[in-house]
This record gives sequence, C-alpha cells and structure tokens, in this order.
Amino acid sequence: MAKLADALPLEGTFQYGESTIPYRITCSERLAARIRVHIHPDATIEIECPPDTIKPQIDLVIARRARWIWRNLSEVREGRQHVRPREFVSGETHFYLGRRHQLKVIPESSSASSVRLTRGSLEVRLPVNDPSAVRRRLNAWYRHRADVYLSERLRIICADLPWIARVPPMILLKMRKQWGNCSPDGRLTLNPALIKAPRPCIDYVLKHELCHLNEHNHSPRFYSLLDRCAPNWRAEKAELDQLAELLLADT
Ligand SMILES: [Zn+2]
Repeated sequence: MAKLADALPLEGTFQYGESTIPYRITCSERLAARIRVHIHPDATIEIECPPDTIKPQIDLVIARRARWIWRNLSEVREGRQHVRPREFVSGETHFYLGRRHQLKVIPESSSASSVRLTRGSLEVRLPVNDPSAVRRRLNAWYRHRADVYLSERLRIICADLPWIARVPPMILLKMRKQWGNCSPDGRLTLNPALIKAPRPCIDYVLKHELCHLNEHNHSPRFYSLLDRCAPNWRAEKAELDQLAELLLADT
C-alpha cells in the first residue's frame, strides 16, 4: 500500500438525496491514472486512487458515479440483512444450491415430518410449530442433500482427473471457517453448508481439494493443476467468499 498524498484526507462523505454516505480513501501505486470505487461486502465504500490524486478529482468521480454507488450500496445492505440470525419461521429465505427459497412451515397432524423443495420455496411439515424443531429438521435435510449431491459430484469430477484412481472417502463436518480440506492420507472433509452454494462454487471446492491429492500444498504446481481442471476457479472462489458469511450462518 502506498502513502496517501499529503493533501488527501483519509475519509470523507458525500450526499445522495437525503443520505450522507461515508467513504474512505486509500492510495495505490498500481493504479496509473484511474480512481476506483469499491463497495465492500461489509457495506463500506473505499475510493482507491493513484498517489498524486487531488480531492477535486475524487469529488468528480463520486459525483459521476453517485447513482451507481447508491444502488450497489443498497444491494449490499439488503443482502446483509439476511446475515442476521435466522428465526426459522415462515417467510424467511434460505439458500439451496445458490438460490434463495422461501421457508414455509406447515403444521402436520400426523407425527411424520418432511421437507420438500418446490419452486422457490422450502416446505417444512412438522407436528409442532417450534422454531428450534424447524431448524433441526431443516439442517438434517441440508445434511442429507449435501451427502447425496456432493458424493455424486465427487464421483463425476474424479472420473475426469487423471491422477485419481478411485474416488476418495468423504466425510461431512460442520466447520465455521472452512469449506473443505484434504488429509495427508487422502480423505476429504467437506462442509455440509456447501449445499447452499451455487453449483460452480461447489465444483471449485471439490476440485481444489482433489488437486491436493496430487499436490499437498499451495505451491505454484498446485495452482497450475487447479488452473487446468478449473479454469474459472478465481471467479468461483470470489463468489463463494462473498457469500460465505450468509451461507455459514445458522449451520
Ligand atoms: Zn488448499
């Protein structure tokens, strides 16, 4: 990170309609001329600029892009609302394979319970309408779906990777910060919350771990292997990183 030009403040605000929007300024030597506006997942705004930028240039960029900034900031803020702990009541949205589904809790007269995925909604039928019971039932369903889907993808992906002679054993384990890992003796541990992520992101995690069966490190050789079997992995990883907070809540 480069030093800020002396005349530049570290932060500022601008007005958009009724709202006062704060931002921070950072300096980067890698930017030759352009000033960049970043809206971060935590709903903060960063203005990244070349070291010789003066404040009026920043004001001009903000004035030109105010609408864009506002729109994107609103989207990020809206997305963050869903990071609040879920209550497991009807009307909330829950993820499955990257899509949001609306939860419908339906009282069931018999003692049987079930979870059904229909277009756009997740129906949970239970004899008791108790949010903690809904949560347990739903998480059991996610885990079952994760087991089925991940084993199937693993089998399909392994068939295409020449260094894999047989599909490695897989276990599901709730983890707070990791999507998966590969033990030195070649067993995969996967986070059942992966089933909430978009399909390409799931494949990226599987391919990353499967590359570790050949390269047990993050060396350049590992990444060239990953580049070959998952050419889009950077975009898939970026998407997954953005969603992580949302997908790992309530698991
Ligand atoms: Zn790794």
